[in-house]
Amino acid sequence: MNAPVAAPSEPHVMQTYGRLPIALSHGQGCWVWDVNGRRYLDGLGGIAVNTLGHAHPRLVPALQEQVARMMHCSNYYHVPLQEQLAAKLCELSGLDVAFFCNSGLEANEAALKIARKYGHDRGNHNPEVLVFEGAFHGRSIATLSATANPKIHAGFGPLVGGFVRVPLNDINAVEAALKAHPDITAIFLETIQGEGGVNPARIEFLQALRRVADAHDILLMLDEVQCGIGRTGKWFAHQWAGIQPDVMPLAKGLGSGVPIGAVVCGPRAAKVMQPGNHGTTFGGNPLAMRAGVETLKIMVEDDLMANAAQVGAELKAALQQGLANVAGVVEVRGQGLMLGIELDRPCGALLARAAEAGLMISVTAERVVRLVPALILSSDEAAQIAAILCPLIKAFLSDAEGGQP
Ligand SMILES: *Cc1c(COP(=O)(O)O)cnc(C)c1O
Repeated sequence: MNAPVAAPSEPHVMQTYGRLPIALSHGQGCWVWDVNGRRYLDGLGGIAVNTLGHAHPRLVPALQEQVARMMHCSNYYHVPLQEQLAAKLCELSGLDVAFFCNSGLEANEAALKIARKYGHDRGNHNPEVLVFEGAFHGRSIATLSATANPKIHAGFGPLVGGFVRVPLNDINAVEAALKAHPDITAIFLETIQGEGGVNPARIEFLQALRRVADAHDILLMLDEVQCGIGRTGKWFAHQWAGIQPDVMPLAKGLGSGVPIGAVVCGPRAAKVMQPGNHGTTFGGNPLAMRAGVETLKIMVEDDLMANAAQVGAELKAALQQGLANVAGVVEVRGQGLMLGIELDRPCGALLARAAEAGLMISVTAERVVRLVPALILSSDEAAQIAAILCPLIKAFLSDAEGGQP
């Protein structure tokens, strides 16, 4: 092998990330290689983005064909692939229309604009949105204001107003807030909180929110940017509760790596936006639309939701078994291939240790190890993740760096 290449110094890249000293070169399936030729098992999937893994043998030629045909045109014209992807998303969700953008925060911005306009359309000129503790909705000024994390707010005030925040899974708090704030026009939450530490909204809570939103004639907006697109074993995580949202922002996994966002709306919200109210230059471009169409098609052909449910259950069981009775492990939770291991102390140091052991993971909410791999993960790869990760967590909890909680 050649001499190892040092991770590059990057004097010209704005320093917005605390990066590991690893530079990645390429990937195949659930594996990635660094510039030194070292291989890692990818338990992160580009943070729930690479639905089909890396270099999928049917996605790659479809995108190559699309790049050669047309990547971008303007929304001055009809883009036939938009209707194709929108129709598929509506078929899968039971909703009516989709707007396309380029990222999760953009999808959430559109949702927040819909919530405000929904109010204005009915004579409420001070619309408010109910949001939740632990929430993450993005890093634009409006979506960071909807986000609960004070670290994400710090330095960026004044925050956007019009948000009321209550605890997750507390329907009494929701009802009290609606009483105290009659101008609330939307309830906005992640069906399963991702950055907040893999915290599910309970099924009964989601069902109660649906009833409350109907009773008040306001919008239920479910941010499925991370938990949607088959990751939990259903197309959308709220389908486990047998409900439908009025507004559903999507992004991450929808393009399997090509940047894309979407807001899918049901009847109460479908006609809120009128020509001229919203738009984006790149949103709905043919390349991203093709990536979305092909991702959903391959998911159906290969039954990847069933795979996510099955292999996710195996991985969760292996982690629960490997970490049973380990002091310092609070809980292994999550559904399908969206799993979190909560520890009783900050564990950011595990990122580098896992990479050293050949595994990509993430740590979120300071003390939750998160696994959001590609939905093509095999049983054998799931077993390998558990076999690498469990001993690392045990060693971390018992050594000096892990320290005391
Ligand atoms: C990642 C994420 C976002 C933000 O998406 P970006 O594409 O990074 O802007 C919003 N909501 C949720 C639930 C997310 O996980």
